[in-house]
Amino acid sequence: MLTVEETIGVTEAAQIPQQRGEQLLDNAVRYAEERHWDVFPGTWLEAVEGRERCSCGAECAVPGAHAVKPDWSTQATGSGVGARRMWSKTPKASILLPTGRTFDAIEVSESAGFLALARMERMDLTLGPVTCTPDRRMFFFVLPGAATKVPDLVRKLGWVPGAIDLVTRGEGHYVAAPPTRIGGVGAVQWARRPTPANRWLPDAEELISPLAYACGREAAEARNRTQ
Ligand SMILES: [Zn+2]
Repeated sequence: MLTVEETIGVTEAAQIPQQRGEQLLDNAVRYAEERHWDVFPGTWLEAVEGRERCSCGAECAVPGAHAVKPDWSTQATGSGVGARRMWSKTPKASILLPTGRTFDAIEVSESAGFLALARMERMDLTLGPVTCTPDRRMFFFVLPGAATKVPDLVRKLGWVPGAIDLVTRGEGHYVAAPPTRIGGVGAVQWARRPTPANRWLPDAEELISPLAYACGREAAEARNRTQ
């Protein structure tokens, strides 16, 4: 007989749409072939006793969407054939994209990200792809090299880099790409999809002002709430 707790666990897992393996494979191949992005397979979520756990088997920080081995950077490939081979072996694997190669990513909270997006559109800025993760973070894809110059750019705009919630991921890091699912709560999605029009990525310098402004405003609001 099932206990109440087990029954709830089964229902929860059943409600989360299953990731179709071919969807991950197709997307990984397309990222490599169409965008020339390097890709590598990460962990995935698997149902264990009605609950979803990360395939790493541990209580990890990013269930279902982190690198399997420390040497992931050597595994990453920009070849569609290579991607097809890797996801054929592990069809449920998350799609991870190394940053610091063809792009860097500026990470902000989802609320700051949407505020910045609205402002960027009013300013008619050319945006690159933007992802939205289920843990409510947003990643703006920009030209590589951003990680080293963003702190200075933020300072020049009058913000203290450590005081606002804005992080740039460059060399040695990676981001999870759609339709990777994270932590059993949802999938990474495009807030701005990759299209032929945004093939040429913007420089961090072009986007930093609206991003830092949105993050700064959010930090000020948070301070006011606690006062
Ligand atoms: Zn894990």
